[in-house]
Amino acid sequence: MYRCDYHLHTSFSPDCDTPMEKQIQKALELGMDEICFTDHLELNFRKWAGREIDVLACKKRFDELKEQNKGLTMRFGLEAGVTCGEDYMDELKKNLRLVPLDFVIASAHGVGGTDPFEPEFYEGKTWEESCRFYVEGLYEGLKMMDPALYCCVGHVDFPMKGRRILGDIDAVFHYRYAADQLDELFRYIVDQGKCLELNMSSFRTLKEGERPQTDWLKRYVELGGEYITIGSDAHIPGHVNLLYDDALALAKSAGVKYLAVFEEMKPKMIPIK
Ligand SMILES: [Zn+2]
Ligand SMILES: [Zn+2]
Repeated sequence: MYRCDYHLHTSFSPDCDTPMEKQIQKALELGMDEICFTDHLELNFRKWAGREIDVLACKKRFDELKEQNKGLTMRFGLEAGVTCGEDYMDELKKNLRLVPLDFVIASAHGVGGTDPFEPEFYEGKTWEESCRFYVEGLYEGLKMMDPALYCCVGHVDFPMKGRRILGDIDAVFHYRYAADQLDELFRYIVDQGKCLELNMSSFRTLKEGERPQTDWLKRYVELGGEYITIGSDAHIPGHVNLLYDDALALAKSAGVKYLAVFEEMKPKMIPIK
């Protein structure tokens, strides 16, 4: 099966120190076919204030490295934080139109002034309510996006990663915790011809022998979702393409028909066998 990774960060992201060339080197070592960089375009996020991405500089470096690495298919994307709030939406869109993009992940990190990596995110809420709150925030942000400016919705199970890192090592993001909210989100994505991402980073928090669960992915398929992207969300070379085969197996068992890669924002479907 084609080996690709559609969620990679570099030192152009405020939370990553890995130079772009190190991620490329790792992909080459792994014998990968294709990678897509998706550095954070995150506005109005308190933690990263003043360290927002320089999209032009990032694209310039990408172009140089692409020229030097012709044996590897390299795509240029961004991970756009859609929960920046109405006041920042125009700036977000402006940034997404600065350079030609192959791919954009729409995702949520901060919601309601906090984020799943901070205890405040869960204050006054049960774990189930926190999952609902997150998906609602993501959906509200997504509705403000121009559909031409994104391809895919990233890591819907993101709170699981934060919750586990904060110490609740048994936290699992189940479809039933936010069923109505996820249904609404998935219907919206399917209607727009967009897709979901299967992000492997929350699965890196699993305990020895613990099986990842993706009941939400099965529901996406039930509601008409046919394709996904797979991303490691690697911020270090050691995470590039990690758990890719597990991701493919999960996608297949959930009934997902195609894995997508992108060029100039258009998906190319690869049947999942
Ligand atoms: Zn993210
Ligand atoms: Zn990411």
